[in-house]
Amino acid sequence: MNRHDIYRKMFSLAYPNACPFCSKVIEYDEYCCESCKEYLPYVRKQIGISDSISRFYACCFFALRAKVAVYRMKLEKEIYPVYGIGKMMYEMLREELETADMLVPVPCGFLSILKRGFSPAELIAKRISYFSKTPAIKAICVNGKKSEQKLLDETKRIENAKISFYVNPKADVSHKRIILIDDVCTTGSTISVIAQKLKEAGAKEVCAAVFAKTVRLSKIELHKKTFRKV
Ligand SMILES: [Zn+2]
Repeated sequence: MNRHDIYRKMFSLAYPNACPFCSKVIEYDEYCCESCKEYLPYVRKQIGISDSISRFYACCFFALRAKVAVYRMKLEKEIYPVYGIGKMMYEMLREELETADMLVPVPCGFLSILKRGFSPAELIAKRISYFSKTPAIKAICVNGKKSEQKLLDETKRIENAKISFYVNPKADVSHKRIILIDDVCTTGSTISVIAQKLKEAGAKEVCAAVFAKTVRLSKIELHKKTFRKV
């Protein structure tokens, strides 16, 4: 048991570890309860996002229990979903991580950090880095004027992303294989623009991984997907 595990075990005595998706109390070293493991709305096929991203990975659809965990993290400012989400993304990316040089979190705006106190993508990237030992590097910066992407239509999202994000001049991305990390992907315009910028700065390959991908499915289709036994 390493120092981090001892700390988590002690911490769980006062604040029991909870499933990020349904709040059920779980062992200190577990990341999710058995029921949620079985019934999360998993993404089971590769989704194409854009030419600038070599491979795109998503653990779940942004629905039901997966959506709850993201809201807990983003709206309720809870940290513990980061553990579960980080572990699940690490498992999903195992093969990709073997050849990756760095994990790059998609940064959120200054106001979001001020509101929430942390950047979910950054914490998730650090968590994946903890398991994989692939360094998590803030190679993308955001300028202060960034508008919230979720309030914009597709064309404006791309324009906003183009002027908001830039490659950190202190980060050496040339000839690197990079995995972009984010919590939720809606249209993919943000990560596509960022991937393009990393490539222009010399990155060899850019993949992207998110915990949840939004999807436009009817409630019935989602119900079928989610409650079919894995
Ligand atoms: Zn659960």
